[in-house]
Amino acid sequence: MPPDSPSVWGLSYTAVEVELGSLGGGQYRALASRNTVRIERDAVTTFRVAHEVTHVWQKRHYLMPAAFLGAPCLRQPDWNCTPTEAHADAVGEAAVLAGCGPGDFGWPNAEVTGCALPNPLEVHP
Ligand SMILES: [Zn+2]
Repeated sequence: MPPDSPSVWGLSYTAVEVELGSLGGGQYRALASRNTVRIERDAVTTFRVAHEVTHVWQKRHYLMPAAFLGAPCLRQPDWNCTPTEAHADAVGEAAVLAGCGPGDFGWPNAEVTGCALPNPLEVHP
């Protein structure tokens, strides 16, 4: 699938589905940079898309809500738990609880449910 350029929270980003194992395998099935989210083809879930686009949001706004300093991570293992990961996990979990799908975050060829997207500034640990 060619890269797509969706947007969420007023930010556009490039969405790329990559081949299984191409992000190094193991824990790393998805990666976000300032402008691009890469997720392995079979690993596109609401949680993962929401988590990764939250990293795009953090990078573009140079921001991470202070409440997440020292907060536990909902899904990251302890060795990978930082405030930015705790925040991204919380937004991901909020998206799942809100009934969102990957398409609600602009992910290409994914269902748009019309859920109430979590606001990264309003999610709390
Ligand atoms: Zn992360």
